[in-house]
Amino acid sequence: TVVRTPLVVGNWKMNGSFERNQPLLESLLSHLAQKRLPEVGVCPPFPYLAQVGALLAETPVRWGAQTVSEHRGGAYTGQVSATMLKDLGCSYAIVGHSERRQYCAETDDAVARQAMAVLDSGLVPIICVGESAAEEAACQTLAVIDRQLAPVLLALAGVADEGASVVVAYEPVWAIGTGKTPTPEGVQAVHTHIRAALDAAGLVQTRILYGGSVKGSNAETLFALPDVDGGLIGGAALDAQDFSTICTAA
Ligand code: PEP
Repeated sequence: TVVRTPLVVGNWKMNGSFERNQPLLESLLSHLAQKRLPEVGVCPPFPYLAQVGALLAETPVRWGAQTVSEHRGGAYTGQVSATMLKDLGCSYAIVGHSERRQYCAETDDAVARQAMAVLDSGLVPIICVGESAAEEAACQTLAVIDRQLAPVLLALAGVADEGASVVVAYEPVWAIGTGKTPTPEGVQAVHTHIRAALDAAGLVQTRILYGGSVKGSNAETLFALPDVDGGLIGGAALDAQDFSTICTAA
């Protein structure tokens, strides 16, 4: 049997400040102390990675970025490379978050190239997939996920033993920040589908997170589903108590 370490990652989105980050992390660390923990990480905006890294060094909590350049370096004004994130002590980079796909026109192919740049630097890409409300209404969920994953699986085909170093996050766009979640059966059905695609590609170690309105109150139910290996948490990651409840549920 394959053992996958549960993972909970907080996506702070464009939130935080030097002043607010420190008490948030101190409160989180005190809530997490003495608890049995899964792997836990937080992803603040770029300007705070050094501060967050300094506060979390020597703690069980890791950190990462919310996006990354697909390029290795050079004339790409405004972009940040995976090697720079490695320099900052990051463990992860989220790629293909629906807000990046929507507001920054990131394509499935670009997301796959970002994931490979992250892997090449020795970090773990957290690759987000998920359908919009309209796609869900049109029963296209699995087709959309297959389309989004296809270039990733193709790129990973040569490096299948990297399975442990890749994470997929299923995030239905209509569940992000809305307080709505699919039913547990709905989540499990999509995760089973993704699991089968990953296993067929030899990526049996790859963890599949669920994201979209996870809270302390629903985390246990969602994380108990057989193919859910943890969560990607937005809004609730900004509340130390709620985030720690979610962590201990995984
Ligand atoms: C996210 O944006 O990754 C997310 C899951 O957001 P929320 O938890 O706020 O729905």
